[in-house]
Amino acid sequence: MSTVFSKIVNGEIPCYKIAEDENFLAFLDINPIAKGHTLVIPKKEIDYIFDIEDDMYQEFFLFAKKVAASLKKCIQCERIGMAVVGLEVPHAHIHLIPIKSIYDIDFSKPKLKLSNEEFGLIAERISSKVVL
Ligand code: AMP
Repeated sequence: MSTVFSKIVNGEIPCYKIAEDENFLAFLDINPIAKGHTLVIPKKEIDYIFDIEDDMYQEFFLFAKKVAASLKKCIQCERIGMAVVGLEVPHAHIHLIPIKSIYDIDFSKPKLKLSNEEFGLIAERISSKVVL
């Protein structure tokens, strides 16, 4: 069975893309808890993040680190928070979330409502600063 994230990787579902290379993809979370809330995924469909083999795991986090650097440049925040949950989509992903306080990384709070145009502009701004 193909996850919603594999469908994004295969181009069957659109996303607001931030960055990609051969093995990894970063795109905006469609139900963000903060402006710039980004998901980083391996293109290969692996459910549980701690099942990823060591080399790819390290590359995955290095890729996320580069995406976080561009997020930090573009979104006003104290730092970029990082979280792994994975209870909704069984395809490993790292949440990168611009934060000013602990409350900004509360997944139970109401999601931001952004227009397609706002999503597009945010993605464009962040992706233009990514250096892989
Ligand atoms: P979790 O598996 O609990 O870490 O959460 C999965 C995350 O994926 C949630 O924050 C969703 O808003 C996000 N999400 C689900 N479908 C999409 C999609 N098509 N595009 C972008 N983000 C998505």
